[in-house]
Amino acid sequence: MNSDSVKIPQATAKRLPLYYRFIQNLHSSGKQRVSSAELSEAVKVDSATIRRDFSYFGALGKKGYGYNVSYLLSFFRKTLDQDELTNVALIGVGNLGTAFLNYNFLKNNNTKILVAFDVEESKVGTTIGEVPIYHMDELEETLAQLKVPVAILTIPQSAAQSITDRLVQANIKGILNFTPARLNVPSAIRVHHIDLAIELQSLVYFLKNYPDQSVEK
Ligand code: ATP
Repeated sequence: MNSDSVKIPQATAKRLPLYYRFIQNLHSSGKQRVSSAELSEAVKVDSATIRRDFSYFGALGKKGYGYNVSYLLSFFRKTLDQDELTNVALIGVGNLGTAFLNYNFLKNNNTKILVAFDVEESKVGTTIGEVPIYHMDELEETLAQLKVPVAILTIPQSAAQSITDRLVQANIKGILNFTPARLNVPSAIRVHHIDLAIELQSLVYFLKNYPDQSVEK
């Protein structure tokens, strides 16, 4: 995100990619304006939240008109730095890591997994989804050469903290952590944690305990 967006609350900032994806679809289908009710229905966020989020961008829709799609698209593209490609490194080419290497992140946003690392000799030197796999011994040198700011962790939990420490030393700024480990990092480093097992457990809990509320959380 660029510096213009620093005053946007974090909860709002987290919804920006969701809004952006939908606005992109609207724009390519030729739609020129959209109401907060339509947006709400499509992205499953309540319309009061959408209006509040959009008020932070200065994108105040007119009553009965809605929001201008082209304006929103250029705003989101600029705010999310979509004009600039962000390179990503993936650490741990197991089942989950392999799936990410085969997934085309460029479809929906401007990030690209440029390089992957593993300790398993049979994987090192191969490529998956055109992404080359290097040995962990080459981590620091390769990251310094390629100037990669973001890493995805799909390694076993036991290796997560020590690898994180190396990534911090190697100047990584953001980590998407798919391991169950809670990572300790300096305050300047941003960690987003996605624990798939916990998410699934939480979904099952909500189904059992709040069966009538289908709004996405
Ligand atoms: P998952 O389904 O969680 O992706 P998996 O069952 O295929 O994983 P894991 O044991 O979780 O395998 O390991 C994931 C990957 O991380 C494997 O390819 C493994 O070789 C690699 N790995 C294990 N330890 C390290 C480490 N210290 N540094 C880098 N890669 C590692």
